[in-house]
Amino acid sequence: MRAFVVTAPFEAGVYEVDPPVPGAGDVVIDVERVGVCGTDVDFYTGEMQYLHDGDAHYPMRLGHEWSGTVRDVGVGVDHSWIEQRVMGDTMLGCGECHRCTNSLQHVCEFRHEVGIRRGFAGALAEQIVVPASSLHRLPPRVDAALGALVEPGGNALRAVWGADLNRGDRLLILGPGTIGLLCAYFAKARGAEVHLMGRSTSSLDFARSIGIEGCWTNENLPDLAFDAVIDASNDASLPAQALELVEPGKRVVFIGIAGTPSLLDTRIQVLKDVTSVGILSGSPGLAATIDLYESGTVDPRPLIAMTTDLGGVAAILAGERPRGAGPGPKFHVDPRVGAPTTYSAP
Ligand SMILES: [Zn+2]
Ligand SMILES: [Zn+2]
Repeated sequence: MRAFVVTAPFEAGVYEVDPPVPGAGDVVIDVERVGVCGTDVDFYTGEMQYLHDGDAHYPMRLGHEWSGTVRDVGVGVDHSWIEQRVMGDTMLGCGECHRCTNSLQHVCEFRHEVGIRRGFAGALAEQIVVPASSLHRLPPRVDAALGALVEPGGNALRAVWGADLNRGDRLLILGPGTIGLLCAYFAKARGAEVHLMGRSTSSLDFARSIGIEGCWTNENLPDLAFDAVIDASNDASLPAQALELVEPGKRVVFIGIAGTPSLLDTRIQVLKDVTSVGILSGSPGLAATIDLYESGTVDPRPLIAMTTDLGGVAAILAGERPRGAGPGPKFHVDPRVGAPTTYSAP
C-alpha cells in the first residue's frame, strides 16, 4: 500500500510499504480522511520535542486525525466491527499502569501516540492498524471530514471545558489556528461571547467569516473583562499575557505549545486567585465531540481549506498553500485518491 513517510527533516514522500496485519486486539482500517496538523509540521521540520527526547525517530509515518472504515480484525476482536465507520484515539496507553486504570491513559508514561510517539505508524496511508479499544463509532451524520475533525475537536472541547464557561461569559482565545477556532465553535455553542486574538489580517478575516465577532490583534485588543482566556498559540509570550488578561478568580487554559519555554509569574496567578488548566489530548473529549457534531450543534467543516491526496502532503507540511485552497487553516488528505508512486521502501 502507499504511505506518506518522513525520512529526515524536510525529506518526505509517498512510498510503497507492506500493508498492515492486525495483531491480537487490533483492527485494520481503510483510511478515508486525515487531517494535517501543526504537530506533523514539527516532525517534518525536525523541531518536534519527541525527536530530541528519543520518543520518536525517522523514518516516521505521520497522521493522527483520521476517519475510516474497519476492513479486518485480529484475534479476539468482535467481527461486528467490520464495515463500521470509525475514528480512533491518538493516545494508546499501556492499559495496566496506575494512570491507565484511572481514566488517564492519555498521559500514560508508556503510551504510544498514533503517528507521533514510539514508532506507531500513522494514518497518512491507505490503511492503518490500531487497537479496537481505541475506536469510536461514527454515526451517519458525521461524515469522513467531520470524523477526521473529531481528534482536534476533542482537544478544543476539553480546553473549553477547562475554561468553565457559563452562558454569556466572555472568552478570549489567543491564536487563530485550527485549535483556537475549534475552541471558538464549542464556546459559542455553550453561549459564550467569544473574542479571538491573532496576527495576520487574513486569519482574522477568516475568523470573522465563521461568526466570531471580536477579532483583534495584540495592538487593538480592547480593555474588556475576560472570564476565561485560552492560549491556543505557539507564541512563548502569550501564556503570561493570558494570566494578565483574565479576570481575578477565573481561568486560563493552556493548549498551545511554543518552541521555547513559556515563563509565568506565579505571583500574579496567586494574587489574582486564577485557576490554570493544561490540556494535552482529546481523549476524554472524543465521545462528546462526536455527539456535538452529530446533533449539528457544532459543524467545523468550514475550517477545511482543501482535501488533497498523499502526494500533496509534503508541500503542505513545507508551508505551501496549493492553488484552489480555501481560507481555512486545516488541510485534509484522502489517501484513496492519487496515482500510485514507484518509490522503493524507505
Ligand atoms: Zn493534530
Ligand atoms: Zn499506562
